[in-house]
Amino acid sequence: MDKTLARLRCAELDGAAPAEHGWHGVGGPEPLRCAEAGCGGEAIEGNTCPRCGGLLEFAEPHGIGRDALVQILRDRSVATSAIDRSGVWRFRELLPHIDEARIVSLDENEIPLQEAPRSAAWSGVERVAVYHCGRNPSGSFKDAGMTVAVSFAAARGSRVALCASTGNTSAAMAAYAARAGMGAFVLAPAGGVSQAKVAQTLAYGAHVLTIEGDFDDALRLARAVGAASREVALVNSVDPYRIEGQKCVAFAMLEQRRWRAPDWVVLPGGNLGNVSALGKGFREALALGLSDRLPRLCVVQASGAAPFARAWESGAELEPVKAQTVASAIRIGNPVSWRKARRELRACDGLALALSDEDILEARRAIGGDGLGCEPASAASLAGVRELRRRGVMRADEDVVCILTGHVLKDSSVVEPIAPEPVANSVDAVLSAMLKEKK
Ligand SMILES: [Zn+2]
Repeated sequence: MDKTLARLRCAELDGAAPAEHGWHGVGGPEPLRCAEAGCGGEAIEGNTCPRCGGLLEFAEPHGIGRDALVQILRDRSVATSAIDRSGVWRFRELLPHIDEARIVSLDENEIPLQEAPRSAAWSGVERVAVYHCGRNPSGSFKDAGMTVAVSFAAARGSRVALCASTGNTSAAMAAYAARAGMGAFVLAPAGGVSQAKVAQTLAYGAHVLTIEGDFDDALRLARAVGAASREVALVNSVDPYRIEGQKCVAFAMLEQRRWRAPDWVVLPGGNLGNVSALGKGFREALALGLSDRLPRLCVVQASGAAPFARAWESGAELEPVKAQTVASAIRIGNPVSWRKARRELRACDGLALALSDEDILEARRAIGGDGLGCEPASAASLAGVRELRRRGVMRADEDVVCILTGHVLKDSSVVEPIAPEPVANSVDAVLSAMLKEKK
């Protein structure tokens, strides 16, 4: 199967490339570079710039042409091996290089774009498609990044994976760490996570330590612990490998659309690693000649957790807030990837919005009307579409994709109240109760 690949690849890349180096596609070894504009810092490993302390990232893939890539992907579309099917690893020429035998995959990011007609009507557009990342193996968008982060952590010889999490990251890390035979520890803010996600994380055999403070405190602590021990791999979205995996959402979406970019991609924003990754993916697809243009990205935050949307409106530096929203997956007051996110929005003429919890929950009901379930945070995307229409920024006939980030069972704490009174045990009583409910 990999004959095509072997022909395309530089001979230096055959055999075992050192996994801790940022090898990219068919080029040579490349260091990680600082994501801060104008810094120019570089590093071979880690997640912070030695010069300014900002986040690191991989440079764009190069050395492979569009036609060769399209042919490889066409071949893989009928392949049966798990890594050729994976919606991350079938794009492996565009990822840091790792031996195929070392890939830890659970068939992630194989997500069909689905039309959502009732959601479209609710939000005021003619058509909307959803890319529902809740269909991933651990039920959220985090799996696309985690397969890359854990594969490289295991290849580097780390024995333990660590993350700070409000839930989705921990479940994804726990699943992939288990698959890799690594230990897994989660630092969770006390009282700030969904019970369903904790239960899921424990089911994969991970350990959950609740710590005093909020998510931002937990992340600060996790970064310090990760830096203090070589045995421990920090796999939060500060890890540049996570971003590489997550950018494949852009590739997988474009591939289904025959590499035609939509007008808009709308998604919820918490720590903002997701929009950073998507923006990078769309830019790389354009640079490689795979797609024809960049979609406009719109990041939607909950108004009680909207430091980025505010910074975007004002053009000022981000001011951290104490985050409050029912959408626990985006309850983040100090988003670590905000500068990367701002850069991506500027590159694509995108924007950031803040919407109320009521708007978000109303959007979730609309999505439910299409037979699609998602956690509250996910619905921020559709609420964003309605707001863009209200503001006149989006036309009704534009081509829109909403990213739904997590499965409906991820957060069962936010449910519609059910009737508190039991109904009498009789056909008449049930029928009359049903009539009443229907109204
Ligand atoms: Zn720097």
